[in-house]
Amino acid sequence: ADQNGETLVPTHCCFCGVQCGMYLRVDKAGKVFGVEPRNHDINRMRLCPKGINAYQQINHPDRLTAPLMRRSRDEPFREASWEEALDFTVSEIRRIQSAHGNDAFGLLGGASLFSEKTYLVGKFGRVALKTKHVDYNGRLCMVSAAGANKLSFGIDRAGNPFSDILHSDCLLIAGSNVGECFPVMTQYVWGARDRGALLIVIDPRETSIARTADIHVALKPGTDSAFFNAVLNVVIRENLVDEEYVAAHTTGWDEVKATVATYTPERATEICGIPAAQVVQVARAFAGANNAMAWHARGIEHHSQGVENCLTVINLCVATGNIGKPGAGYGTITGQGNGQGGREHGQKADLLPGGRSILNPDHRRQICEIWGIEESELPAAGTSMMEMVWQMQRQEIRGLIGICNNPFVSLPNYKTVKDGYDTLEFHAQFDFFLSETADNAHVVFPVTTWAEDEGVMANAEARVVKHNKAQEPPEGVRTDTWVMCQLAQRLGVGDKFDYPGSREVFDELRIASAGTVIDYYGITYDRLEETGGIAWPCPTTDHPGTPRLFEDGKSYHSDGKIHLQTVEWHPPMDPYDDDHPMSLTTGRTVAHFLSGNQTRRLAGLVEQTPRPWAEVHPSHGFKNGEPVRVVTRRGSEVFPALVTEAIRPDTVFVPYHWPYPTAANALTLDALDPRSKIPEYKVCACRIEHAEQI
Ligand code: SF4
Repeated sequence: ADQNGETLVPTHCCFCGVQCGMYLRVDKAGKVFGVEPRNHDINRMRLCPKGINAYQQINHPDRLTAPLMRRSRDEPFREASWEEALDFTVSEIRRIQSAHGNDAFGLLGGASLFSEKTYLVGKFGRVALKTKHVDYNGRLCMVSAAGANKLSFGIDRAGNPFSDILHSDCLLIAGSNVGECFPVMTQYVWGARDRGALLIVIDPRETSIARTADIHVALKPGTDSAFFNAVLNVVIRENLVDEEYVAAHTTGWDEVKATVATYTPERATEICGIPAAQVVQVARAFAGANNAMAWHARGIEHHSQGVENCLTVINLCVATGNIGKPGAGYGTITGQGNGQGGREHGQKADLLPGGRSILNPDHRRQICEIWGIEESELPAAGTSMMEMVWQMQRQEIRGLIGICNNPFVSLPNYKTVKDGYDTLEFHAQFDFFLSETADNAHVVFPVTTWAEDEGVMANAEARVVKHNKAQEPPEGVRTDTWVMCQLAQRLGVGDKFDYPGSREVFDELRIASAGTVIDYYGITYDRLEETGGIAWPCPTTDHPGTPRLFEDGKSYHSDGKIHLQTVEWHPPMDPYDDDHPMSLTTGRTVAHFLSGNQTRRLAGLVEQTPRPWAEVHPSHGFKNGEPVRVVTRRGSEVFPALVTEAIRPDTVFVPYHWPYPTAANALTLDALDPRSKIPEYKVCACRIEHAEQI
């Protein structure tokens, strides 16, 4: 403590997968009141507007400090005791499950939770609720990138640390508004640029990073795989393939070669609406560089072809030998703070801790031993988040607990989502603010923020970092861990949920992940505090971790090869017609985080960006600020126009952080990628019209 009794608690920002280091300032009464930069090697003192303002949510007047309860949605909420809210929730779980079976109750977690809590969500769902319906909001994040990584490399993470970007001669950024969504990551891009690295940006919008690029490819939304296939076509045609690397380390090359043969630059012009010369330019720049690297985010992942889009980027990197070296490789940028760690340890419908498959008998046996249950007691694989909403509409799921998510803003096709949740007989939500989704529940449990508990997150590099507790929770607030343990006790399995705190959960998680690809066994809280972060796999307590993968050219498949996959482009799921000739695409803005439940309350961020808007090309005849109605097959909403040449004439952009009736997601389509079940947020057929008023 300094002479004023103030202390600095080292921790990390809760917003986004960069996971910048920061100090929280704590006053002599033990309350967080500010933030200080921290010289952590991820961010070297830098923070973006969200990071600077994040501390303001901790003691915000909107914090929930008592459980809220009502027996019907027609009644207003009233404050309840913890005993009453927990007992009511358990009686509703019992009532629904005894009448309709265990799978009639679902559990939805979140990828902004610490990994310890995501591990507990998976265990609580399967062992306490005994339901197969366990999933999480990472389905809206980078799950399609994860699917592609697993198919190609047998491991689900980025191949390189951020610091490798500094050594790259050519950076390709696809579908990522890095400057606004991961602002501090751009320091690595500028570092590479200072050394003369070439920058290629693939994005229908001229985002801040695209504005600075040497080559900006403003393709039509929903055409990414056709573009990357065409780039590979040129790489092959111009003999720029690293034949030695491909022969030594891959399978499936002949099939990929045959598939991309039809994707000529001229065909890319037809499909993607870009000059053929740009395809050639990108191919020569990327394949001709000594070290080239590709990073992508939701722009290519939020598609009904999400996994396939990512596979085409991997194919390009591998075919040119750009894998596993400083400056050469492949990375996916996570949106949520723990987007990477959130899916590693069992809250995804098909996965168990350590990324084990819930369908694999050996994996099931291993986890049942650790959890102390019979194999027959472990439920089967469930369905994805959006599919669970459809099941709510059909009353196949009648009760639900949601933890750290806000589907009323974040899921596509709001009316369907609202209808699904309204059909639930019972709904409980954990949150620290009354989100739009919590406001529709029967019970709301007030839980801690990231600064009131300790735990780990894995950032976009798969570097595990430790968040430290900076203050005691407000009176009446409990940790998510405590609430799950209390419910488990009342459900008769308290002996399996006896955790004094996060440390004990983390030690069980380490054991549960040991021997898998996602091996955390060698990572301890003490080591994380000493080192500032360790990248998995880390199998022993003297192992340094694995910041860079594939240095020996070997993948994590049993044959050690990279499995290249063929991809055929298909048109987006929402067809264009005379009434809907344009593309609606959605995304984020620098001042807000995902559903906005946290950032729409922070004055500095609201002042910066108070409301959504529709970005339209000048050719449509709107003036700045004029009301523009965006119409899709799901409905129509009116936004102020932001008229700019930075968007294609056939495309309109709306940011998605706001609730209905100014919700981008009231317009989006709930079509899913068949492999990863990620929704197609980034392209919906629409039209725009002049409107009377906003
Ligand atoms: Fe937080 Fe991400 Fe901004 Fe860093 S870049 S301060 S982690 S929101």
